[in-house]
Amino acid sequence: MNAIEVTKLGKTYPGGVQAVRGIDFEVAPGEVFGLLGPNGAGKSTTVGMLTTTIRPTSGTARLAGVDVTKHPLAARRVSSVVFQDSVVDRALTGRRNLEIHARLWSVEPRDAADTIGGLVDALGLAELVDRPVAGYSGGERRRLEIARALVSQPRLLFLDEPTVGLDPRIRYELLDVIAGLRARSDMTILLTTHYLDEAERLCDRIAIIHAGKIVALDTPAALLAALGHEILELRVSGDVPTALKALRARGVAGDDTFAVGSTLTVPLHDRGGSDALAAVEELGLATTAVGTRKPTLDDVYLRLTGGRLAEAA
Ligand code: ADP
Repeated sequence: MNAIEVTKLGKTYPGGVQAVRGIDFEVAPGEVFGLLGPNGAGKSTTVGMLTTTIRPTSGTARLAGVDVTKHPLAARRVSSVVFQDSVVDRALTGRRNLEIHARLWSVEPRDAADTIGGLVDALGLAELVDRPVAGYSGGERRRLEIARALVSQPRLLFLDEPTVGLDPRIRYELLDVIAGLRARSDMTILLTTHYLDEAERLCDRIAIIHAGKIVALDTPAALLAALGHEILELRVSGDVPTALKALRARGVAGDDTFAVGSTLTVPLHDRGGSDALAAVEELGLATTAVGTRKPTLDDVYLRLTGGRLAEAA
């Protein structure tokens, strides 16, 4: 049975904003699945529907076979969520927060102590957990929130932009912690992010979401492979369409070439990088920069949506 099954899921907010426009995907047990897209793409709304805080206006979603709209309580029992906004009580110690959450979820006290002990170790909280949360840094609090979400031993964990607002070093530490979680258990994780590196590093598969629709869904490697091994990038100082036409006529640029502003990105596929560079030279195109590089997920996203992920975020 799939851990998550989403069919034609949609959400139109009162006032008419179509935040999610009929998306479909399935997530296998134990898989780490990423929803990648810029702010406003519909990621949080999707997580909200899967975690029963937002009611879908169309379609269905099942968690471990449980329909989130028909049986929201049962759906919540198999899943946990870490939202962007903090939910822990700052006046209490980390441990107290974990204990209260365990009681809320009716975890047997003896089991709770063991579970909490294990989570404190796994999330590197040993030195913090008996201090009030008010003194935690952003990254420390995020780790406590993940521990809190795991107290009920969910089969599914939802992480909504888990590293947003953290400085880069803390972000990498937290990514290690999340990567460690999957090694520990066969829990399914769905995370949302607008960081490409994060998606690439953590996820088995990624759905790229744009304006409420999934525009690509595959493994990071397969998404990248669609662009071949090498990309030719030119910053054109003259007319971009003219340069593109010349490159096409010369057989350098294929149909998947795309332009953003004055930058032309040309997936080379079977064509060699040095041949392509020689062709640019020969054509005498007016450029301010020309080079070849490996494709990135940013290219995948850009080709599909016409907007650069980091800029849109
Ligand atoms: P993301 O998480 O990818 O940034 P969201 O799911 O938060 O995207 O938002 C998707 C779209 O829905 C945006 O246009 C946003 O403004 C809109 N939206 C989100 N929440 C609400 C709401 N409660 N009421 C109306 N519009 C909303």
